[in-house]
Amino acid sequence: MINLVNLKRQFQSVKEEILQGINDVIDNGNYILGPKVKELEEKIARKLGVLEAIAVANGTDALILTLEAYGIGKGDEVITTPFTFFATAEAISRVGAIPVFADVNPLTFNLNPKEIEKNITSSTKAIIPVHIFGQPADMDEINEIAKKYGLLVIEDACQAFGATYKDQWVGSLGDAACFSFFPTKNLGTVGDGGVITTSDIKLADKIRNLRTHGTTKKYYHDRIGYNSRLDEIHAAILLVNLTKIDQWNVERRRIADRYRHFLKEVPNLQLPSEAYDRTHIYHLFCIESNFRDEIINALAKEQIQTGIYYPRCLHLQEVYRSFNYKEGDFPISESLSERLFAIPLDPFLSESEQDRIIDILCDMGGA
Ligand SMILES: *Cc1c(COP(=O)(O)O)cnc(C)c1O
Repeated sequence: MINLVNLKRQFQSVKEEILQGINDVIDNGNYILGPKVKELEEKIARKLGVLEAIAVANGTDALILTLEAYGIGKGDEVITTPFTFFATAEAISRVGAIPVFADVNPLTFNLNPKEIEKNITSSTKAIIPVHIFGQPADMDEINEIAKKYGLLVIEDACQAFGATYKDQWVGSLGDAACFSFFPTKNLGTVGDGGVITTSDIKLADKIRNLRTHGTTKKYYHDRIGYNSRLDEIHAAILLVNLTKIDQWNVERRRIADRYRHFLKEVPNLQLPSEAYDRTHIYHLFCIESNFRDEIINALAKEQIQTGIYYPRCLHLQEVYRSFNYKEGDFPISESLSERLFAIPLDPFLSESEQDRIIDILCDMGGA
């Protein structure tokens, strides 16, 4: 069986260092917001070239706490993509604001800057571009629109730790950025975790306050907050994985190049494209085809797992029925939801495994 991602192999490769890190935590005795979280926050901030990193319980909370710390709430609108994991829009709704969707670019699957401007109203407060599948969005164009209308830009970087845009790290490209450490993300742990990166020190202070019950001084509360912290044990694990992430991303890109090389002539397969001025770090390798079901079934017969990202666009989700979006509103996103599928890719996928996948796709002639 070839899994879409083989997490066990990745964690096996760093198991000794991780066990040492967990050992340190147990011996240290400081289990919540202790030295490992502090070290992780400092290392992430320094690596990405921002002033602050604030670790929280998961990527969804990273988005919620950032929106709330910026004072975004009831009556506000936030523009984002309908082609993303639900948590992006869920966070907007969770703080009481309204997600307003704009269609994506057909080549990069990212929020299309040309679709943003017509959705801006006097209630719009922020734009959340998502670096979908590991490829950075068109940040210059998005930042320019934000500047023109006085909007905030919050990167949903949950799928893109270590990606770059014009030689700058993702996570340093907007006003703030949110990452997830869910196990399957490029930089993940063996549980939940997340981080916010920003150079806005006031924002960072507010998020630190929110993540611990709205308190800066223990037992004195300035606002209603959350309990949303990253555990020391996960910080210890992430400190190990952080030393490997660039190499793992290089491996992901190498495998993606290999797929592209051997699959480029296969009819009926449209391979993912890379914009020239950024590095795609292939959280997922997604292929477009009109014969998705046939291909997925052929791969499944050979014990090869695939994934569909995302089978239903967010504007067509039951929960957002009251917004009165309808089929056809975002044709590019909708077409992707009908045609896109992911094939296995992780830093430890062997060449023989890659070849098995390539052979089946070639044999089918794409259908
Ligand atoms: C994973 C993910 C999230 C949520 O992260 P969690 O840690 O699972 O809460 C948000 N946005 C995107 C684009 C994601 O891929």
